[in-house]
Amino acid sequence: MLTASHPWCFQPEHAALEAQAAAFRAEGSIRDRVAALGAAGLLAQRDTRSLAVVRRHLAYHAPLTDLAFVIQELGCTPLERASALPEVVADARAGRRVLAFGLTEPNAGSDVRGIETRAERDGGGWRLTGTKHFISNAPDCDGAVVFAVHEGTVGCWFVDEPPTSVQAVAAHSIGRLDLHETPAIRVAEKGFGLAFATLERCRPSVGAAAAGLAARALDETLRHVRTRHQFGAPLAALPVVRLRIAEMAVDLELATLSTLHACWKRDAAAPGERTAASSALGKLVATEAAQRVIDMAVQLHGGAGVEEGSLVEELYRAVRPLRIYEGATDVLYTVIADAILGQP
Ligand SMILES: Cc1cc2nc3c(=O)[nH]c(=O)nc-3n(C[C@H](O)[C@H](O)[C@H](O)COP(=O)(O)OP(=O)(O)OC[C@H]3O[C@@H](n4cnc5c(N)ncnc54)[C@H](O)[C@@H]3O)c2cc1C
Repeated sequence: MLTASHPWCFQPEHAALEAQAAAFRAEGSIRDRVAALGAAGLLAQRDTRSLAVVRRHLAYHAPLTDLAFVIQELGCTPLERASALPEVVADARAGRRVLAFGLTEPNAGSDVRGIETRAERDGGGWRLTGTKHFISNAPDCDGAVVFAVHEGTVGCWFVDEPPTSVQAVAAHSIGRLDLHETPAIRVAEKGFGLAFATLERCRPSVGAAAAGLAARALDETLRHVRTRHQFGAPLAALPVVRLRIAEMAVDLELATLSTLHACWKRDAAAPGERTAASSALGKLVATEAAQRVIDMAVQLHGGAGVEEGSLVEELYRAVRPLRIYEGATDVLYTVIADAILGQP
């Protein structure tokens, strides 16, 4: 348990939360999993270390449940920071509503300044037109936080029951928001601050999810190398295999420590204090280290490691997008460089 092995990072309430998250199981659709998470009270986490503790265990047991968990957080955080639509937030945190977070567009990926979705006034309300893509949980959502442009400024809106279409991405529920003069409620006139603050809060927990996937891969690999015999002995007797296992353990600890440090920095920050660089660094180090652990797990499973449906093959597909979404690794390097050197 993280709270026992890294007590420097936690308070007593985190240990109780971790025990609950470790025992939590849910099955079925994203909607079923969100409902179960809400009923268990797991969708109402206040600090970043709590997000990390929950995600570590959800990702270990069921990456899809982890996705259900974190997208609710991505949807609720901008609304809460803007003090907007408290009834939507209450429903989402209770698991009664599935939310999505709509930032990315076909021409606005890493560079979100390219957002083209337009917001226009319609009497006393608003209408949005444009396409958001690669939006997690879009096919299942009841409402979406959407970033759009009005008179040259990117603001934030909420769309109830948005029109959506499905995109095929392995091990995820992903889709588009197909907005065409779709009614919307304005959340905030200025949206980028909300979007970046949301990512700053959630990025370290991506590292925690990656570490959860890596911990599962290491456990599965330990079982495999102890039971699979080649050259007259278990694989675990071979010196190179032993070295690889030690390397995996080192990378798992690197992933764990980097993400916990980023969470701790975020939680210790003064109100309004930015932690862009430490959040970026925690996500970057943890997701890259977790990818190495899982790649080695596949390697040590041999052919069984790439057999469709094997656990390590699933983990390989599950961990890969974590190095892309919420800031690709290469983009996070620029965030860290800007923090050290200032912007060019
Ligand atoms: C599984 C999954 C779930 C997602 N969920 C959501 C969601 O819920 N909501 C949402 O809004 N978005 C979501 N996304 C979108 C995600 O945030 C984007 O895919 C990501 O920001 C990268 O944008 P892009 O795909 O357009 O790649 P691009 O921006 O085209 O970048 C491609 C690659 O170019 C390199 N690159 C780009 N810019 C730089 C730079 N400045 N310096 C160095 N290298 C650079 C990086 O290697 C990068 O991976 C999700 C994506 C995936 C894969």
